[in-house]
Amino acid sequence: MDEFGLINKIQKLENISHSSTKVGIGDDAAVFTPTSGKDIVTCVDTLTEGVHFTRETMEPSDIGYKALAVNISDIAAMGAVPVYYLVTIAVPKDWTDDEILELYEGMQQLARNENVQLIGGDSVTSKEGLYLSVTVIGEVESGKARLRSHAEVGDVVFVTGDLGGSAAGLHQLLAGKPVDEHWKIAHQKPRMHTAFAYEISRSPWRVALNDISDGLASESWEIAESSHVEIELLEEYIPLSDGLHEHFGYQKAIEMALTGGEDFQLLGTVARDNWQQLQTIAKHLGERVTMIGTVMRKGKGVVMRSQDQITPLSRGGYKHG
Ligand code: ADP
Ligand code: MG
Repeated sequence: MDEFGLINKIQKLENISHSSTKVGIGDDAAVFTPTSGKDIVTCVDTLTEGVHFTRETMEPSDIGYKALAVNISDIAAMGAVPVYYLVTIAVPKDWTDDEILELYEGMQQLARNENVQLIGGDSVTSKEGLYLSVTVIGEVESGKARLRSHAEVGDVVFVTGDLGGSAAGLHQLLAGKPVDEHWKIAHQKPRMHTAFAYEISRSPWRVALNDISDGLASESWEIAESSHVEIELLEEYIPLSDGLHEHFGYQKAIEMALTGGEDFQLLGTVARDNWQQLQTIAKHLGERVTMIGTVMRKGKGVVMRSQDQITPLSRGGYKHG
């Protein structure tokens, strides 16, 4: 890798340009003017080759897309809007500059859709395996970030879209068999829910939000723990990805929804009185939201109700762990 040559090529990629940016790529650091009245929201997530992705199941552009997507999803889960991103990349010998540029194209495709500007990064070499770390900077109306700790007793628990599709896609890709297109997309190019998150942030409602990166079970636990509440999920209400039940059988399908992860849907809670309005907002944005449970009482934990049987749910799903 020729570091300067590569940075030069990265700099020439089509990039969003925000008027708040004073200095982008090219100097020692980036400079931007924060919007007055807003809080800055920032996160970082890292993907490493062989651990978080392999080149057998992901094209370079998919890897780039996903590295940015996991971060944009975290920003959306705060009810915030992503604005800028920075990329640290450690490149091993078996990756060509062209492949790195394809990876950037994947990131930039999502960045253009989401109106996020690339403002810098760092490029180093790696002895083995690609390492890709993305930092996203976003904004939210001051004091309006939607936290995991916002759930209260009586709230409706809801989720956007459907679950298990990413796990199904990965399963089929690894099996080397023909892959259903909607599952391939769910795994490689998951859709973001930023518009919905933004509308929630503009609403006056108290909403707890989390994004589903590890699985519904673990993300529900995170809300329950942060809010000191017990959540009851309703198994029959969990929206399974199309064909999941038919293809994998019911038990496996539920398990994939609970623990498969990487669906990047938003999981939230809202007061029962605001649930109708929240659904209306979602509908306007073409976003499906499903009620999947209730915040039952003060406490800590998650249980699953299925045909009037109540089972404790661990972070790892039904199996205790
Ligand atoms: P410095 O030595 O001052 O850190 P670099 O040569 O690392 O400068 O970077 C020069 C410019 O290129 C900086 O603006 C930096 O943010 C940007 N940059 C470097 N690597 C990347 C990358 N992988 N992706 C995006 N921008 C990068
Ligand atoms: Mg540097």
